[in-house]
This record gives sequence, C-alpha cells and structure tokens, in this order.
Amino acid sequence: DRIVSPAATREEDAIEASIRPKRLDEYLGQAPVREQMQIYIEAAKQRGEALDHVLIFGPPGLGKTTLSHVIANELGVNLRQTSGPVIEKAGDLAALLTNLQPHDVLFVDEIHRLSPVVEEVLYPAMEDYQIDIMIGEGPAARSIKLDLPPFTLIGATTRAGLLTAPLRDRFGIVQRLEFYSAEELTRIVRRSAQILGIHCDADGAAEIARRSRGTPRIANRLLRRVRDYAQVKAAGAISREVADAAMKMLKVDPEGFDDLDRRLLTTIIDAFDGGPVGVESLAAALSEERGTLEDVIEPYLIQQGYLVRTARGRMATHKAYRHMGFKPKTGPSD
Ligand code: ADP
Repeated sequence: DRIVSPAATREEDAIEASIRPKRLDEYLGQAPVREQMQIYIEAAKQRGEALDHVLIFGPPGLGKTTLSHVIANELGVNLRQTSGPVIEKAGDLAALLTNLQPHDVLFVDEIHRLSPVVEEVLYPAMEDYQIDIMIGEGPAARSIKLDLPPFTLIGATTRAGLLTAPLRDRFGIVQRLEFYSAEELTRIVRRSAQILGIHCDADGAAEIARRSRGTPRIANRLLRRVRDYAQVKAAGAISREVADAAMKMLKVDPEGFDDLDRRLLTTIIDAFDGGPVGVESLAAALSEERGTLEDVIEPYLIQQGYLVRTARGRMATHKAYRHMGFKPKTGPSD
C-alpha cells in the first residue's frame, strides 16, 4: 500500500480518533473556511435554527470528515454519518432522516455517488424538511408526506463537478478545502506528536510536513512511520536527520512523491513524449483506475506545477522533466 496515499486505512481509524480535531480552534489551516464557518455556526445558534446545508469538497485526506464533526460539535448537536453508495434505497434515506433530532447533522460522504432515486427524495428534505414516500405497490400504491425535524445536511465530495446541478444548488454553504502549506502541516505534525507522546523537534516536524503532499492524513501517517524508525534507530527522538533517513527507507522523496508519482511522471515524459496524453491511456499504461489518477494522484502534482491538464490531455511541465532527471524538451513552460 502507498505510504503517501491520502485514503484512510482501517487500522488508522482508532489512532485517528485520538488526534482528530474536535473544535474549530484545533482545526488548523484553512483559515477562510474556519472564519466563515465560525460566523455561520454562531449565527445559526443565536437564531435557534438549524445551520444551512453545507457542501465540502476537496481531495481525500484534507479534513472533510473532520470539519463535519467539528461543525456538529460546535453546534452542540449529534452527527449521523453515512455515505452515498451505502444509501441504496429511498427507504434507507427516509429511515435516516426521520430518526434525526432537531438541528442534527447528517453527514453524507461521497455524496456524488447517491443514486438518482435517492437524490429525488433528498431535494424536498433539504428544501422544506419534508419527504414523500411511496407505500405499497401497483394500483394500491400511494405517496405520503412526512415532516422532518429541521436538520443540516453536510455533503462531502472530492470534486464539486461530480454533483448534479439540482443537488449542488440546494447547499446554502459551499466550502472548498485547499492543500495545506508546509507551515500549517508542521503545526499539525507537532500537535499530533504531542498528543501521541512522540518526541519530535521543530526541524523533524518540518521535514515530515514538507513531504506530506499538502495533506494532513499523510502527515499523520508519515509521523507514525518515522516514529517507528526513530524508536529503533534513534532512541525515539525525531530530528531532521532521523526524518530524512526514515523517508529514504520509505522511498518518499523530498517532494513527497512515491514510486507511483514518479512512475506517472516518467510515463508521460518517456512513453508519451511529455504528452498530451488522455487520462484513459495514462491509466492503462500505469494499470491504475482513472478515478484514482484524477482524485488521488493528479491534484497534488497539478497544484505543485508538475503536471497540467489541457483539453487534449495531461502534459508534463519543465519542472517535472527536471525533477525526474530529464532534459526539458516538449513540456509546456512552467
Ligand atoms: P477527508 O474526510 O477529507 O478524507 P479527514 O477529515 O478524514 O479527511 O482527515 C484526515 C485526518 O487528517 C484526520 O483524522 C485528522 O487527524 C487530520 N486533519 C484533517 N484536517 C485537519 C486540520 N485542519 N487540522 C488538524 N488535523 C487535521
């Protein structure tokens, strides 16, 4: 498994629970999102109303789930968690909605994967706190209207463009999470180290942060792997040298790239002459799924200026040529 994968693994969940921020002031970085949410939450509380529905989008591991829990905590309400593909039938959604307490949060991860039938049920629920459900079958079937308690739907998705327009339009608040700066990730690493009782100095934390692809989940994972290395090789203390040596062992380069990133860049440069290459051809050449390329691997490479998406396909930039040790030739300038 990729050490720099932004996706969560099962064994991480328990440890994550202890370091996951619970309040807004522990939620580091994302300053504009934090400031706005603080105002919206405060205003909803003062009016004694449910918070408007919130759509959060951004690549995996940037804190969408965490932010949803933080919002529910700050509102002082319960959070019910589910995900798009889990809600198979309209009745599943109806059961979830009718069990909410007033002002509760329903968090739907991967909301772009809701089936069209379920989405239809969601529209009036979001707009008027009402659902229409069908009872019975054939000529005896009839629809009944149920009132719901006022609630807040928080939907999370990796890309806003994956949502249908009618669903997107029903969110009053839309927040986009950005990749974190190295400085923000350094603060996140130091906070996690403190909670987990790991000795990690400022330089060690900065070194881990720099290689974490702008992603808190990766920062926390690298911290734990470097801790193992430090425990066995360096009396448990993480310094820059220790972090650096551990990353070499983990094959995470100074940019936070692993074999897959490097393979992607060399494939475009070598096999496709720098591009442009269509995403399907690239996915086939790498034996990866298109969705993994688009959601997990590419966003950071694009944000860092190693890759560009053009109408004709992906192209490697001069920066990518240099980083991979090639002489720039056909890549667009960077
Ligand atoms: P997503 O839902 O976007 O995939 P998560 O919310 O599960 O990401 O975040 C992954 C982990 O990263 C969390 O468990 C948490 O420990 C950490 N994390 C995310 N955002 C922040 C943040 N703003 N400050 C501190 N830690 C964070």
